[in-house]
Amino acid sequence: MTPRRLRSTTGSDSRVDSQPDVAAGLAGLITSIKPLALCDSCIALDVRVSLAEAHEASVNAALSAAFERTLQRCHRCGRTVEAICAR
Ligand SMILES: [Zn+2]
Repeated sequence: MTPRRLRSTTGSDSRVDSQPDVAAGLAGLITSIKPLALCDSCIALDVRVSLAEAHEASVNAALSAAFERTLQRCHRCGRTVEAICAR
């Protein structure tokens, strides 16, 4: 449990850091449906973040060897788009 809120619009620090909570949520989500893939939109809905945050988290996750981001069919919405899956 964490009392920390993700809302950061009032923060004075304008840097855009990748949020560990988003990354953890994405990793858990993608790993749980392995080997199926999810697109940014479906990740955003599931992890409850903005599309921009989901996109950033997905791109960052794909930098690791554990995940792969390619043009493929999203398991949830069925669109063929850039989607991420666990290796
Ligand atoms: Zn989707």
